Amino acid sequence: MSFKDLNIIDPLQEALDKEGYIEPTPIQALAIPHLLNGKDLMGIAQTGTGKTAAFVLPILQRLSEERKAPVSRAPSVLVLAPTRELAAQIDQSFATYGRFLQFRHTVIFGGVGQGPQVRDLSKGVDILVATPGRLIDLMNQGHLNLRRVEFFVLDEIDRMLDMGFIHDVKKITQALPKKHQSLFFSATVSRETEEFARGFLSDPVHVEAAPESRTNTLDCIEQRVFFVDQNNKYPLLQDLIQDGDLERVLIFTRTKHGADKLTVKLIKDKVKTMAIHGNKSQGQRDKAMRDFKSGRLQVLVATDVAARGIDVKDISHVVNYDLPNESEVYIHRIGRTGRAGAQGTAFSFCASDERSLLRSIERLIRMKIEVAEHRYHSEKAKNAVGPASATAGTYIKKPKAISRRSSTESVNRPGPRKSYPPRRH
Ligand code: AMP
Repeated sequence: MSFKDLNIIDPLQEALDKEGYIEPTPIQALAIPHLLNGKDLMGIAQTGTGKTAAFVLPILQRLSEERKAPVSRAPSVLVLAPTRELAAQIDQSFATYGRFLQFRHTVIFGGVGQGPQVRDLSKGVDILVATPGRLIDLMNQGHLNLRRVEFFVLDEIDRMLDMGFIHDVKKITQALPKKHQSLFFSATVSRETEEFARGFLSDPVHVEAAPESRTNTLDCIEQRVFFVDQNNKYPLLQDLIQDGDLERVLIFTRTKHGADKLTVKLIKDKVKTMAIHGNKSQGQRDKAMRDFKSGRLQVLVATDVAARGIDVKDISHVVNYDLPNESEVYIHRIGRTGRAGAQGTAFSFCASDERSLLRSIERLIRMKIEVAEHRYHSEKAKNAVGPASATAGTYIKKPKAISRRSSTESVNRPGPRKSYPPRRH
């Protein structure tokens, strides 16, 4: 199947050609025909499945059929996203796919001055991408009204509900006109999201890309687990970095504090690193993303919430410095590498107290992750049993301070040079 089969108009087709996208992804093939037909949609799709283009393309196509002039403070398209990073990326997608069309679009979120956002809205935009809080602020101040919205997209509803945006989102939906097309996306299915969608969508089509993407994700990622004691995690990371393979690495820690500590160590060891998490200002996050994208940074250390929606091409490695408490998160994390068909590598560090988390992950992905051999290998971690009750998401390990070894200590490393690449066990 090609985009032509989906009756995508030429200017969009040209933009897709420029991106080098030949075939629609499954969620695009499933969703686009319904969206072009004006249907409401409930899509289950994770980041990495091509879900953004699945709504951006048909919306641009429908807008270009209408050809209405933008009206001050009253956009035709409203997209809500839970995080600033995701909102910025969606806005960028409107720019990318709409490069041969003349629509005005902008993104608004909190944490930055509202002046430029107010000016953009006042000049008039066709497409507005926003996080809920700032949107409501601007609505309350009279800088924006939603009465002309024709297309309403709610991305990552599950995350919105998790982050406590439900009241804001409801308030926003109440300001929409009766007649509009709604497109909801969620990475996971839950009773809460289902109920929320049922109360709002009218006769929606349901499309799901998750199972497909999961196989794809796992198929094109080389996964390795490194059994290691907590206090050897940093020396192990140093070894891997010194190996030279880790070109552009996204490292996940469980806590913000852990992310900061690791970042300080890496910088001390002259590795170009920044951290991205909830306590960072918008300016710091933007800079980190820009520098990581441009290749100025080798390492970005992130917590799960901050990493949602990070879409950087060519991430060579994802490193799970700490394993996630929920197995599903493992798939989200490693899906950042090897995106859209490119091969990537995911390394997971597993200490004794994370052993049961690894078991849950392996149950979920229905495969045993290959064990890497390295000089800090810990048999204790490999054979650890963990609490009997441990299952995905139920075993919450107390965040533990990472290695306190100083960089001078870590120069005197034990044992022979590592024998990575790993041997199959
Ligand atoms: P998303 O799930 O929207 O975050 O998209 C994941 C990645 O896939 C992004 O880098 C997109 O630019 C890319 N992408 C979207 N559609 C296609 C396609 N049809 N073929 C190849 N890559 C795509």
